[in-house]
Amino acid sequence: MTGLDLDQLLQRRVRDIPDYPQPGVVFKDITPLLADHTAFTAVIDQFVGHYGAGTVDKVVGIEARGFILAAPVAYHIGAGFVPVRKKGKLPAATYEESYDLEYGQATVEVHIDAFRPGDRVLIVDDVLATGGTAAATAELVRRAGGVVVGVSVLIELTFLGGRSKVPGLDVHALMAV
Ligand code: AMP
Repeated sequence: MTGLDLDQLLQRRVRDIPDYPQPGVVFKDITPLLADHTAFTAVIDQFVGHYGAGTVDKVVGIEARGFILAAPVAYHIGAGFVPVRKKGKLPAATYEESYDLEYGQATVEVHIDAFRPGDRVLIVDDVLATGGTAAATAELVRRAGGVVVGVSVLIELTFLGGRSKVPGLDVHALMAV
C-alpha cells in the first residue's frame, strides 16, 4: 500500500461529526474505518511498520477507542497489550494521573504491575487533541517502570498543539488535521 492510498483511505473513512459530544467540537468518528477491512489493516500495518516488529515490549491502549487499535498492533509488533482506563475500571492496584480538560478534570489509571522494569512501551490512541491524555498516560507508564518509545495516533489535531505536552517523545500520526 502506498502512502497516497492510505491518505485517501483515511480521508474517506474518518467521518467528521460536528457538535459532538458538545457544541463546537468536531468529533473524528473512526467507525467507518474500523468497518473497512482494507483501511483497518492498512492502519495497523503502518503503526507496526513505523517501529518494527520486536522493538516494543508492551503496547498501551487508551480507553476506549485506543483499545481497538492497540490490540492488533500489539499482536503484530510482537508485544503484550496493556489497558489504560478511566478511573475506577481496573480491578487490581493502580497508579492514577489526573489532568485538566477544557471543563473539569479526567483521571486515568494503569495497573501497578503492568510492566517489567525497562519495558519498551508504545502508546496508541485514535486522536491526539490537547495532548493531556497522552501526557498522563506517558507519566503512568514511567511511574510503573516502563520506558515510552513513542505515541502513535491515527489523527493529530495539530491546531491544538498536543505534541508540546509530550516533549521528547516520538509522536507518530497517520493523519494531521
Ligand atoms: P486530549 O487529551 O485532548 O489529547 O484528547 C484525546 C482523547 O480524547 C483521545 O482519547 C480521543 O479519543 C478523545 N478526543 C479528543 N478530541 C477528539 C475528537 N475531536 N474526536 C474524537 N476523539 C477525540
